[in-house]
Amino acid sequence: MAIKLKEAGIDNFVVLEKGPEVGGVWRENTYPGAACDIPAELYSFSFAMKTDWSRRYPPQPEIQRYMKECAERFGLYPFIRFNTPVAGAQYDERRALWQVELDSGEVLSARVLVTGVGQLSRPAMPRVEGLERFTGTRFHSAQWDADFDPSGKRIGVIGTGASAIQFIPELAKSAARVDVFQRTPPYVMPKPDRDYTAMDRWMMRYVPGYKELNRRIWYTAGEKSTGAFNSDSRLASAYKRLTLWYMRRHIKDPQLRAKLTPDYPIGCKRVLFSHNYFQALAQDNVDVITAPIERVTPQGLEAGGQAYAFDALIYGTGFLATEFLAPMRIRGAGGRELSEVWADGAEAYKGVSVHGFPNLFMLYGPNTNLGSNSIIFMIECQVGYIMQCLARLRQGGFRAVDVKADVMARYNVDIQSKLKNSVWSAGCSSWYHNAQGKVTNNWPGLTQEYKQLLAQLDADSFDWRAA
Ligand code: NAP
Repeated sequence: MAIKLKEAGIDNFVVLEKGPEVGGVWRENTYPGAACDIPAELYSFSFAMKTDWSRRYPPQPEIQRYMKECAERFGLYPFIRFNTPVAGAQYDERRALWQVELDSGEVLSARVLVTGVGQLSRPAMPRVEGLERFTGTRFHSAQWDADFDPSGKRIGVIGTGASAIQFIPELAKSAARVDVFQRTPPYVMPKPDRDYTAMDRWMMRYVPGYKELNRRIWYTAGEKSTGAFNSDSRLASAYKRLTLWYMRRHIKDPQLRAKLTPDYPIGCKRVLFSHNYFQALAQDNVDVITAPIERVTPQGLEAGGQAYAFDALIYGTGFLATEFLAPMRIRGAGGRELSEVWADGAEAYKGVSVHGFPNLFMLYGPNTNLGSNSIIFMIECQVGYIMQCLARLRQGGFRAVDVKADVMARYNVDIQSKLKNSVWSAGCSSWYHNAQGKVTNNWPGLTQEYKQLLAQLDADSFDWRAA
């Protein structure tokens, strides 16, 4: 967003960042094994494709470095205020200005407010009795203790999502024991990871169209998967067979196989990619426990009537993904609280704007997440759309723009009717839906459909208020 503002000749903006550096999830998630599970060519800006990735699925430090390089290259650092958490924002209707309140108490005025806070930034702790009682080392995967040395330790891990399946194999290399507490087994695909050779990098850099072709291939594979999980049952069952074959190939113990076999439709939860997870679970020092956790104790935890003792307890329990802009307090026209408007589940128009909150735009807002493809693509669509709104605001001499209530309502009826029949409503537990079962996070279609929807500004869908 900042890069595109600068490109459009707009430089009276500020980026407020709660952390000490750029990078978002790639700054926060430093657990061992953290890496992208989307191929590098696709997981980068379309206008700033990197040609020297070390491997197809780059590790976290490399992605973090890429973000820093982009901030440097596009001259963003002077615009960013680091260590500046935002407490909330209130829309001043009379002046058509957002009053942005910082944690420090300082208030900034802005004509337009754009949020880019992600969906996966606030750790969710397991809801288990006695969590605070454990006396050993304990932390969430997104708050990894850099001083923690797993060598020779007895470690309990809660959760088997995308984060846990990346760090469990790393712990298993040196820990005395790793007990994995699994509530729902994930579908795991083999991850076709590999080192990029000097020749790969040379081709990416010098062969015209090569990196773009690679990007297109991975992008098309992502689109196919999205379609498969929701409408192509033959392809979906082929994916399912592949995951089960992959599991059986590495897990020989029939009891462990039974524990690791999902009983819900593939795609309902995020399908995971790994080249070492099942291999780690098959190790003698790793166990998978499926009995529900009853309580945490000072020594460890109890599950299925049995006590387990640990030196460390690690929560791979995900994020408060359906709470979107929380804990920021956002008050729009008439002092309406966004959290109240969203009491039954977040929704927006095209994922970027909400009626009653003029001049507020969201990146990666409600119903813009994907089950399989790169979120960078979606964010670029949103930036392009918001830039068109801003251009019209300026050129038309308007001071405020607000999506019409009926347009937003119709849009959400339509996408919710599609989502009701989607695989994400098939009843498994996932961060794609809220506690009431409303799918608040995912986009129901192909990313190409989303791109088309946001390609041209539909100015009639908004009320434009003159200065
Ligand atoms: P997650 O997918 O939400 O997984 C949380 C895990 O914790 C689930 O297995 C869940 O079980 C389990 N859990 C929660 N409470 C529990 C309890 N009380 N007892 C037992 N188990 C409990 O979180 P995540 O692994 O951090 O991943 C979140 C998202 O981040 C991913 O889906 C992905 O989009 C992104 N991510 C991406 C990458 C990447 O490579 N690009 C890497 C990591 C994460 P249930 O399944 O039963 O709910």
